[in-house]
Amino acid sequence: MSTWCIHLAAGSGTRFGGEVPKQLLDLLGRPVYAWSVEAAAPHCDGQVLVVPASLLDEPWTSGLDVVVAGGAARSASVRAGLAAVPADAEVIVVHDAARPAAGAALFGAVIAAVRDGADGAIPGVAVTDTIKRAIDGVVVATLARDELIAVQTPQAFRADALRAAHATAADATDDAALVEQAGGRVVVVAGHLANVKLTHAADLPAIADHLR
Ligand code: C5P
Repeated sequence: MSTWCIHLAAGSGTRFGGEVPKQLLDLLGRPVYAWSVEAAAPHCDGQVLVVPASLLDEPWTSGLDVVVAGGAARSASVRAGLAAVPADAEVIVVHDAARPAAGAALFGAVIAAVRDGADGAIPGVAVTDTIKRAIDGVVVATLARDELIAVQTPQAFRADALRAAHATAADATDDAALVEQAGGRVVVVAGHLANVKLTHAADLPAIADHLR
């Protein structure tokens, strides 16, 4: 089955601070996003990188088939990437380029689950904190921890399920949410704790320690 990967690197990174966008920072000798492109390469027939419009002319790493400008929200950036994926792709993977430690095996695992029949496959890890819902600082519910997972990327989907889920201008913090809402069957594979999303400056040395 023809498989394409969309790497999202069009966020503004406002929580991170600094002059250089976090997806371009050096991580052990190559830019943050390049780690994901390399990890996905063994499993993908093509790769799309979504970047801020202002950075389209950067010298992006090899191994990419297309580089496109993203949108104001994450889901808009996914749709920009989807528009660049050939119509005959059967499996599409969406990955936050801000997770450079995902690793090739995790790309392989989510893709395999979709090839085995799921509409979508996402990496999840057990939650260790107790999670509550709070409104204006007041707790309104305590959730059953044994049913909760923290969800990561890469997330793989049947291409038609992902395209249908993105047919509207809906926004969500991950793509599985849109596929679930459309009635798709999304399965969970084992994520790993090292696959953190580079969000704050202090995350970078910890990710480097893992990759070293
Ligand atoms: O903002 P958040 O942490 O959810 O971003 C997750 C990923 O989505 C990051 O890799 C970021 O670069 C990307 N993103 C994007 N376009 C946006 C917002 C986020 O490509 N407008």
